[in-house]
Amino acid sequence: MEDNYKQRGLRRRLVDILIEKGIQDKKILNAFSKVPRHQFFPPEFLSHAYQDKAFPIGEGQTISQPYTVAFQTQLLNISANDKVLEIGTGSGYQCAILKALGAEVFTIEFNNKLFENAKKLLRKMGHSAHFFCGDGSMGLKRHAPYSAILVTAGAPTIPKALIDQLGSGGRLVIPVGNRKVQQMVRITRTSENKLIKEEFANFSFVPLVGEDGWDK
Ligand code: SAM
Repeated sequence: MEDNYKQRGLRRRLVDILIEKGIQDKKILNAFSKVPRHQFFPPEFLSHAYQDKAFPIGEGQTISQPYTVAFQTQLLNISANDKVLEIGTGSGYQCAILKALGAEVFTIEFNNKLFENAKKLLRKMGHSAHFFCGDGSMGLKRHAPYSAILVTAGAPTIPKALIDQLGSGGRLVIPVGNRKVQQMVRITRTSENKLIKEEFANFSFVPLVGEDGWDK
């Protein structure tokens, strides 16, 4: 899969935009400069790959805006070998960023076609994540606990199952709100019985559907 000097140059410019917007974590910026976002786009839309915007990936879904991916990733505070659950595989781009940070990634996608596409693409790119197709609104109990859980779709409320699946010190990052606007929330499990809730800026995600999400 091609990754030429022009695409690497565009990626460096994207990283500069992320720095201007306040992303400081060097490991995350390095991951963004490594992962070829254009390879997650159909060839006819390559010119959109390094703009800081979300883009349709079919099935009514989107690859998230790079700034949003960076912001959520920064809140997750990933260390190498962290066990991370991503809910909403979509294009697979966020999963590739988490892999570039050295995490072990469990990623679940509701839409079968997107699940198949992302699994095939990420494997071709050499990423060894664990792929699941199904409703992630209840998490993925059989592989819990997780060091971090990332929800990449907008939820109506914080599913209790996700909090229950956080290990000690675990972080859950989830956009919560209505179907149009959601506030980014981070829940940290500081001990077995203690949780800290922090609230951040508003974003706009496609809806989290499923048992603990919105109706389809
Ligand atoms: N992380 C993705 C990426 O890097 O391209 C972006 C994901 S897109 C904004 C949100 C995804 O969440 C969509 O692909 C959608 O099908 C998926 N989704 C929505 N509800 C879900 C659920 N209950 N379980 C798993 N995936 C879900």
